[in-house]
Amino acid sequence: MAGMAEKGTVKETIQIFARVKPTREETSKVYSVNNDEAAGASVEFVVPKDLGDGYVNNKLENYKFRFRRVFDQTAGQEEIFETIAQPVADRVLAGYNGTIFAYGQTNSGKTFTITGGARSYGDRGIIPRTLSYLYQHIIQDSTMVYTTHISYLEIYNNVCYDLLDRQLEACRLEDLPTVTIMHDSEQNIQLRNLSIQQSANEEEALNLLFLGDTHRMTAETLLNKASTRSHCIFTVYLCGRQPGSATVRRSKLHLVDLAGSERVNKMALGGQLLTEAKYINVSLHYLEQVIISLSESRAHIPYRNSLMTSVLRDSLGGNCMTTMISTISVDKTNLKESMSTCRFAQRVALIKNEAVLNEEEDPVLLIARLKRENQSLRDELAMVTGEPRQEQLTQYEIQKLEVQVKDFLEDTDPEATLALGTDLQKIRRCFTLLKTIVSGLRQQLTIIQEKLGRANGTGNELTPLSAVATAPDFIPLNEAVRGILISEKEETEKTRDQDTTAQLNGPRLSIGKEEAFEIFMRDHEDRLTIEDNKAVLKQRYIEAKGLGVQVNKTRDSINELKKQLEMRRIQRADQDHREEEEQDPVEAIILKQVEAEKKEFKSYIGDLKTLRTEIQHVQLLMERAKVKLQKDFKEWWSEETPGPQDSGAPSRLQTGRPSLNSKPSSPGRPGSGGHSLSYFPAHKQQEPYSHVPSATDLRSFVPKIQTMQTPSEDRPASSHQRGGSVLELTPQLRDLSSIKPADYSIPLTGDSRIDDDILAFVRARQNLLQRRDTPQQ
Ligand code: ADP
Ligand code: MG
Repeated sequence: MAGMAEKGTVKETIQIFARVKPTREETSKVYSVNNDEAAGASVEFVVPKDLGDGYVNNKLENYKFRFRRVFDQTAGQEEIFETIAQPVADRVLAGYNGTIFAYGQTNSGKTFTITGGARSYGDRGIIPRTLSYLYQHIIQDSTMVYTTHISYLEIYNNVCYDLLDRQLEACRLEDLPTVTIMHDSEQNIQLRNLSIQQSANEEEALNLLFLGDTHRMTAETLLNKASTRSHCIFTVYLCGRQPGSATVRRSKLHLVDLAGSERVNKMALGGQLLTEAKYINVSLHYLEQVIISLSESRAHIPYRNSLMTSVLRDSLGGNCMTTMISTISVDKTNLKESMSTCRFAQRVALIKNEAVLNEEEDPVLLIARLKRENQSLRDELAMVTGEPRQEQLTQYEIQKLEVQVKDFLEDTDPEATLALGTDLQKIRRCFTLLKTIVSGLRQQLTIIQEKLGRANGTGNELTPLSAVATAPDFIPLNEAVRGILISEKEETEKTRDQDTTAQLNGPRLSIGKEEAFEIFMRDHEDRLTIEDNKAVLKQRYIEAKGLGVQVNKTRDSINELKKQLEMRRIQRADQDHREEEEQDPVEAIILKQVEAEKKEFKSYIGDLKTLRTEIQHVQLLMERAKVKLQKDFKEWWSEETPGPQDSGAPSRLQTGRPSLNSKPSSPGRPGSGGHSLSYFPAHKQQEPYSHVPSATDLRSFVPKIQTMQTPSEDRPASSHQRGGSVLELTPQLRDLSSIKPADYSIPLTGDSRIDDDILAFVRARQNLLQRRDTPQQ
């Protein structure tokens, strides 16, 4: 399949893989996976004939599809990464473009595969794992200098959004920046308004990924859309060159989470959703057109028909190594879609790509290099033929040298030189300058060490820099330990008040809303995720601390051994040993011990670094879960409370009849798991916080509410026992919907704005209680 046609060109068909999503259904009769075929692997479905081709027939029929490999239900994220993504990442590091895209119906596991699950570190998907892999390689490879950039794009209804644009935090629809596409004279596409952000290390890249994912969530609310209808493209831009060389390799890696591929006819949709479905189907339809044209080697490939195919042009039949993951669900109701996903993949497998090594001479670098060479040749020539200078350096020359040295030290380019020509006086002067600078730094270092020692006390202190500098691998140690200790400190500070609602709540809420939030949060599925992750973090911090202690111990014992070595050498020197007897067995033993300790030291550092990545990831997961919680609450609150326009109309309370309002499945809601009872929102609020009265406004009615919290006997206790201040369901509360406003035991204030809020709160609470009382499916 793959072959090197000429140097730097790889011809290869698009690699197709399949992944079966885990299910609880009994599916052994429905499909089977075979990974040991001569031609690769296959998945075979056994279904009633009518499922396959539309005939109604009870006969069973077999449908078999070939893949490079099929990952069955039990396959883990690591295996997926190693088999699918790692080879692509290797090619990208070598200078080739790569694309991995997930295709399948909604809920089949595309996002889980590409980004990962939001629950645990082990669930992280291809993007975070690939970032980890790339940066590991970049750090270790000393023969190359790399720079990395990242962009994150979302295409929704054929409009591009930049997910890394911080304006997305502005939270107003009209503020959403859109990215436009332009074709240059060579038919290359340029994306205008797409920010491409530099990310120097794994941490920064991960932060960008999470920033984008959070924005994806925000945009979802703003546009009132479902993420399942958008395509997301996460791109890593890599630029590498050898130090001193003007040849650069630029490669791109697209990691693509496509919109759900389901057919419109299967969905019972109306209004807005239909438009969206049409749009995804339009863009996926164009993707299919492109794939068909390519697989049949047609002359014209209709890339330009949609934004998505324009952006992915290179990935499809162009300069790129492309891999497709077909995510399939084998639940009975999804078999038809799964087979159509497999059928699509068979087409895709026919497409030939031709990836070329993206190598070019960078003219700027080339000129710089030639200039340097030129200068050094001149210097050599002058050295050979010139006359040494006699007179002293002038004040002006000295000043100029100082500037030159400063620039030289600040230049991050490893090839920077201090061009001094042949003037020995200048060379000497520069050495003196450098010496002064170094001794100044030494002094500062001593001061910092002393301060650090004092701040940390004894025992579990930060590694003193001098000791670290003599130990192997000193920079990572310092960074790893400090990184963890600092984030731990932040985290302890955070967890201290995390248990209060306010922490999760974001902006300060009125007391009534706060109480509602507390109840909301208690039943929210992400609450568990956050708590689990909190426990994981705690555990990891303990482990990191333990490792820190080990690191310090090993370092101390290395220092101790070094002292012994020194003593031994001095002793032997005193005894006036002769050169030939130099091999001292005692010294050899000590050296061996030092080696062993150093090895251990390195392995602790390695563990510490791994731990650090995990801690960062889990922290980000928690952040994201919190944002989601707030968002879900905001949505729920705005649905449960009438907008400002409806203020002063308490009678609405009675007209707001309970109705079955089937929402787009939102697992995050209390009482989730299917339909939930809710009022139709009287008015969709733009900004739920904008008219919320202050805490003091509402305080007046709070005690009254609390008087209603007497335990009642006519309900099962279990559903109320989880939290601390549990809202008790009383007959009064249950009957609230039938009470006229005048019957309320809550005094209204007369201020329509506040009263409105009070009523909204009561109603929201009542809804919630009603929901919790409704048996869940
Ligand atoms: P899609 O992006 O295709 O719509 P998701 O990736 O969001 O689907 O998956 C739907 C649900 O199934 C999510 O809750 C996800 O966590 C879960 N899921 C998907 N694939 C797996 C898997 N391989 N293992 C465990 N859970 C999975
Ligand atoms: Mg998804």
